[in-house]
Amino acid sequence: MAELKAVVFYDRDGTRYYRCPRCGMLFRKSRDYARHVSKSHGHLFKK
Ligand SMILES: [Zn+2]
Repeated sequence: MAELKAVVFYDRDGTRYYRCPRCGMLFRKSRDYARHVSKSHGHLFKK
């Protein structure tokens, strides 16, 4: 299954964030990001 690649960055505390490249939403957990992608942008990957 194709995935939308998150933009990963760290704040000054070293906390990792995942940013959605399509809508700019931020997520602390990769799982939350993955859920967002399949919910909000999942139609991009459906056959
Ligand atoms: Zn998004």
